Amino acid sequence: MNRLYWDEELETLPPEELKRFEAPLLAEQMSYLYNSSPFYRERFDQAGISPDRITCHEALETLPFTEKRDLAQTQLAGALIGPHQCAPREDIVRLVGTGGTSGKPMRIGWTREDIHAYNEMGARALWILGCRPGDLVLNCFNYSIYAGGVMDHMSFEHLGASIMAYSVGKSRALLEMYADLPGDKCLYSTPSYAVRLAEVAAEAGINPRDLGIRKGFFSGEAGLQVPGYRQKIEQTWGMSTHDLYGIAELGCQSAECEHHNGMHFCGGGYVIAELIDPDTGAVKTMRDGEKGELVYTSIRRKASPLLRLRSHDFVEVQNEKCACGRTSFRFHTRGRSDDMFVVKGVNIFPTSIQTILHDVPELSGEFRIILDNPPPFDYAPRLQVEVSRETPGERHQNLTHETEILIARKAGFATRVELVEQGTIASEHKTKRVIRNYQSQE
Ligand SMILES: [Zn+2]
Repeated sequence: MNRLYWDEELETLPPEELKRFEAPLLAEQMSYLYNSSPFYRERFDQAGISPDRITCHEALETLPFTEKRDLAQTQLAGALIGPHQCAPREDIVRLVGTGGTSGKPMRIGWTREDIHAYNEMGARALWILGCRPGDLVLNCFNYSIYAGGVMDHMSFEHLGASIMAYSVGKSRALLEMYADLPGDKCLYSTPSYAVRLAEVAAEAGINPRDLGIRKGFFSGEAGLQVPGYRQKIEQTWGMSTHDLYGIAELGCQSAECEHHNGMHFCGGGYVIAELIDPDTGAVKTMRDGEKGELVYTSIRRKASPLLRLRSHDFVEVQNEKCACGRTSFRFHTRGRSDDMFVVKGVNIFPTSIQTILHDVPELSGEFRIILDNPPPFDYAPRLQVEVSRETPGERHQNLTHETEILIARKAGFATRVELVEQGTIASEHKTKRVIRNYQSQE
């Protein structure tokens, strides 16, 4: 099947050749930032770096990082976007909200060119994960200002899929709609929504496998990286599952191919990714097995460009050749630092707890950790876990105790397990795995 939309060659270029292709785009973007944004000009000046010195990927290391809160801060003064806005107002044709750091969404502007780039990267990612023209996809992400809705919808269109805007909520009506639609269908949602939707189906006496949803495209959560979780969704729905990764400020820039061996970074020509040590900020080589945080610099972005934006996403890089022929680095996500908490010097990500809980058949696998007091976490946090409907009540007390022992043995920290009814934790939106019942120190 022909791909009509994007430069396929960039996906299979040897990395050094891709760097040579990107270098002039990077240089041009740096002078654009300097000349059109007071925010970025100040960053270059403070670092004592002239933008014309940034002519190769390695030179990026000399520039400071941008934190999302730096960008959000500029909107508190009443600006629509802030002094990091680079394109004139009349060129900005779309605004998208991202989860802000102040409790309010942060606004990101997009020009027509920016949207085209978003769609190109998105369509690349969707092609990698197996979406094809003609696939009938229901988008169950929130269309209300966030990127998963309208932005990703347009990427599916760009690829040539038949995409229906469904958004969140009305799960029962969604099941009826799936039943009415003829032929094979696809779902685009968070992994935990597939779990939630199966719960709603069970309550309504519907077998999810009868609905003809053959492909599930998932984004927004790291859950699919947990083997038991993925298998459970596949078995429940009779669908294949495909993992997509992106951040709202940037777009969908990674996806796993048919070999399911990590996410292919597919931002080549649009975004430069660096791997850093999250504590020191030092850049690391993308060698096989290396762990770190991804940092992004856009090189063809007009309205709200990103300069070494820290994602706070922790990944493990895989760099041995993939049989699909793509040459970009691949990675497995371990989790976000927002969800990470440190117990006795050990970084704990919810995905590691998820993996452990999936080995217990009497639990549904859904859970949340509740941190009632601020760090240091020298107390045993509450761990709410869903108990399967089939588990008899007389097992509950022992099951609670056994789960506490299992977590202590495998994850290395003490919890107070609380069993909750199946169907109470997975949500229509992203499911929050870590609840912090205290005021942030930031
Ligand atoms: Zn591959």
